[in-house]
Amino acid sequence: MAVNLEAMDWSIAQKEMDIKNNRFYESIMSIGNGYMGTRGNYEEDFSGDSLQGTYIAGVYYPDKTRVGWWKNGYPEYFAKVLNSADFFGIHILANERVLDTAKWKVSDFNRELNMKNGVLKRSLNAEDGNIKIRIESEKFISASCKEAALLSYSVIALDDDVHIKVAPYINGDIRNEDSNYDEVFWEEVETFERSGLCFVSMKTKKTDFYVTASMANRFYINGELFKGDLTINSSSKYIEEVGEFDLKKGDRLTVFKYIAVTNSRYVSIEKLADRASEILMDSCKKGYEVMKKEHSDKWKLNWKESDITIEGDVRAQQAIRYNIFQLNQTYTGEDPLLNIGPKGFTGEKYGGSTYWDTEAYCIPFYLSTHEKNIARNLLIYRYKHLEKAKLNAQKLGVKGAMYPMVTMNGEECHNEWEITFEEIHRNAAIAYAVMNYVRYTGDESYLAEYGFEVLAEICRFWASRVIYNLLKDSYMILGVTGPNEYENNVNNNWYTNRMAEWCFEYALKVKDILKEKYSDSYKRIEERLGLTEEEYLKWHDIAGKMYLPYVEELDIFEQNDGYMDKEQLLVKDIPAIDLPINQNWSWDRILRSPFIKQADVLQGLFFLEDKYDTETIRRNFDYYEPRTVHESSLSPCIHSIIAGKLGYRNKAYELYLRTARLDLDNYNNDTFDGLHITSMAGTWMSIIYGFGGMRITEEGISFDPFLPDEWKSYSFKIRYRDNLLKIIMKEELLTIEIEAGSELGIIVKGKRYTVSSYKRLEVAIK
Ligand code: BGC
Repeated sequence: MAVNLEAMDWSIAQKEMDIKNNRFYESIMSIGNGYMGTRGNYEEDFSGDSLQGTYIAGVYYPDKTRVGWWKNGYPEYFAKVLNSADFFGIHILANERVLDTAKWKVSDFNRELNMKNGVLKRSLNAEDGNIKIRIESEKFISASCKEAALLSYSVIALDDDVHIKVAPYINGDIRNEDSNYDEVFWEEVETFERSGLCFVSMKTKKTDFYVTASMANRFYINGELFKGDLTINSSSKYIEEVGEFDLKKGDRLTVFKYIAVTNSRYVSIEKLADRASEILMDSCKKGYEVMKKEHSDKWKLNWKESDITIEGDVRAQQAIRYNIFQLNQTYTGEDPLLNIGPKGFTGEKYGGSTYWDTEAYCIPFYLSTHEKNIARNLLIYRYKHLEKAKLNAQKLGVKGAMYPMVTMNGEECHNEWEITFEEIHRNAAIAYAVMNYVRYTGDESYLAEYGFEVLAEICRFWASRVIYNLLKDSYMILGVTGPNEYENNVNNNWYTNRMAEWCFEYALKVKDILKEKYSDSYKRIEERLGLTEEEYLKWHDIAGKMYLPYVEELDIFEQNDGYMDKEQLLVKDIPAIDLPINQNWSWDRILRSPFIKQADVLQGLFFLEDKYDTETIRRNFDYYEPRTVHESSLSPCIHSIIAGKLGYRNKAYELYLRTARLDLDNYNNDTFDGLHITSMAGTWMSIIYGFGGMRITEEGISFDPFLPDEWKSYSFKIRYRDNLLKIIMKEELLTIEIEAGSELGIIVKGKRYTVSSYKRLEVAIK
């Protein structure tokens, strides 16, 4: 489906009602606040195709695994963040006829998501026979009060007098569309009323999470509070508050729906309704406008540090803001038990669970644009799962900690053997994130407190997973799937082996740091984990003899053993009609082909760039990029960054566009089932690392920027150590200012400068 959303700096606007592509727009118009989120569903009845979706962070259900052939070691369940009470809904009856925007004649439709303040607005005229009304609605999920959401919904009599029956409701009769066995995940759904407030309380099966969704409504006629009778009706899973009004032509009826959603992850079960009441009373007291102002102010703060401005290309500006907006809506970092699902709160695919995406793609965004405790919480999430990762390793017959590919609570819940058992490279990304955190923040105490334990147990895993090959006097890792999921059960995936090697090197280095600077903590950890010099020697030995496949004739790394045996076709040889191959070719044909789903060798060269010279990176990029189909949304950003480094500016820009507008332009034709949230962090990286050429290495922070031809300027901010830097690239001038912090050494194009709060840096860039 081709879409053409108007390019606007701060907004996403839909100018026409599009019933056929409704799911696409529902995904695009998703709103959330890290605690909960909803797809952009219409509030009134809509009988067209729709995924009514409301998700609450961390409230999940272990849906029984469904597979064709059971393999020993498969997890029993796939965790799913649950579709939860629908709280924005409102039924409208005009002269006894249900307003159904899929059936009524709709005109003058306008919907706009304002990214500056996180408010979603909509207006339309709706006609059915001789009834003609106008709807104007506005809603947000509060960024300042996590458990609150608000809706303002107006009905205006356009042509004639009309009798309006309006019923804001909460519906607890909810199912997940992706339920494996068509099971309902909620039980004990009940409704009740207390002092004019309406409640739906629901409990998940098995996991016993309780959610209470509640509402208080205020009705206004032409701006005057309606004090007449209202009726509350309820059934076991549904509650509504009904008001009836005779509107004269031109009259406006407005309903302010104040919503509070509490859950047992944060509030004790017996207090859920009390807490919800408190929030409702407080919101009602403040009123809609004040609640909106507080919410908008919070967004202002968010943007202050995370915005990227682009001059000269509105589509690019809109796209990057959309990516940042969605990332800030998805994860806010207060709770170390939460993480970032690849689709956030925007759909059911991927179950809302955690993937390696967080460590490999998202961490730099949060490190650069938020207080360090936010990224730290993402790391602590894995620390808290360490014991479960050890159990997972035991279950699969290896040692140390084998982190799951997909998880909600530390347990593996993915069940395709080639991924669950074989895509073990994820462990390296978790170690890499620890290193990244320390490089960005300088917070070495993290290593003593949490980091080293995770690193050590990951090394133990690698040490038990390698085999020693006598003939080659090397260590090998057999039977794996690399990041390129279009090759399974391969031996010696270069990326996996190289990253495992790096894990050993890094863990050994951290051990030395701890011994020197945090000796007490070190001793404690050493004792508790039973680490010995002998074990360290073994890690050292493996790291020194790791087998890294290499193609001598081309002087490149071989993606995995046997890759070069394949017929070396290029993506440009694939007929356009066959793309994407994962929707058009049999799996077996894909496996036999040389086509690469996503950055693999190049992912490794991105992570370990400081260990390779530019020509090595170039040779590998030149070889692998033409063979990569980028059928994972996580792929183009990495290629774009490397292309930028190599001076392939057009390629870098082309790949950037592909990642930046992936959802807005529905590039992969799959936005209908949710947004690609984690790859949005990759898009952010393609500007900062790709165009800005920023790197954070042991030498410090450096920039080697360029300005894409299509742009006049761009600017962004970065937190580094205790500083906040503002970077502006305009025409041929790079300017770096320190907005907060003290003096800092910064490397630009290989040369070190000193910047301070009273001395900005300006460097001419050709
Ligand atoms: C990618 C994985 C990724 C997952 C979730 C898959 O298509 O190949 O690397 O972790 O999507 O985003």
